[in-house]
Amino acid sequence: MDDGDGFVRCSCGQWHWGRHGAAGLLLSDPKRGVLLQHRARWVHQGRTWALPGGAMRSTETPWDAAIREAQEEAGVPPDAVRPTASVVVDHGNWRYTTVLATVRRPIAARAVSAEAAGMRWVQPDEVADYPLHSEFAKAWPTLREQLGRKLVLVVDAANVVGSRPDGWWKDRAGAAARLRDELALLARCGVPAGHDALPGWGQFGWWPHVTLVVEGAARSTDPVDGVEVVSAPRDGDSAIVDEVERIRGECADDHVVVVTADRQLRDLVGRAGAAVVGPGTLHAILDGVR
Ligand SMILES: [Zn+2]
Repeated sequence: MDDGDGFVRCSCGQWHWGRHGAAGLLLSDPKRGVLLQHRARWVHQGRTWALPGGAMRSTETPWDAAIREAQEEAGVPPDAVRPTASVVVDHGNWRYTTVLATVRRPIAARAVSAEAAGMRWVQPDEVADYPLHSEFAKAWPTLREQLGRKLVLVVDAANVVGSRPDGWWKDRAGAAARLRDELALLARCGVPAGHDALPGWGQFGWWPHVTLVVEGAARSTDPVDGVEVVSAPRDGDSAIVDEVERIRGECADDHVVVVTADRQLRDLVGRAGAAVVGPGTLHAILDGVR
């Protein structure tokens, strides 16, 4: 038994599996669809289709639990998967987190635990035709809206750094590097749900891709894992607009959010299809992961 195994008498009146809550993985492959699990005959709501998942351990994040369960039940290699978003069904004293993820390379998934009778890639249009587990059926329309879509944060470094009087003017390159390192942590840990200004109206959490646009004395900032750095050849504003257009051109479904307080730039990137949040929102998000 793992320390999360066991039922919880929930405030909704039902019993749920997972003393520390539960999590599941909604994995999508642009070519093959989403990975569904055919539940074994003997489990609760047996013979229905749902996601690989299960009880969280006390030491695990929802992502840890979702990827561990996907590996245990479907042979999904953790390094082949990139989390994009998460959504929580919160019952008060019990929570279920669905982690949405995309494949980094083709995966040969197969049922490897007794709880699963089989695994199958299913095109999103066909999912609702399957006999689904009742909770997954309820969640599917919301999950589908964000399927395969990622959040790209394009950060106006000079504007964000300049929004807090912390002495940045003495060392502009150092301040940009500190911001980059905080953003790298954010890309790794993810933005939790609850930030209304981000796509999904606060219902979704995100593992953002981050592009930091630097200019002037900060132009030598190096990229790190999780953060791309664009060094503006001229002014930062045109580099940011170019970047938004490039990202929108590559994948029109992705959410692009620019972080800046610059009014003129806000208008420009808005016309290019990006949403905008102010530096205060980013600082509030970073405070949560620091
Ligand atoms: Zn409940």
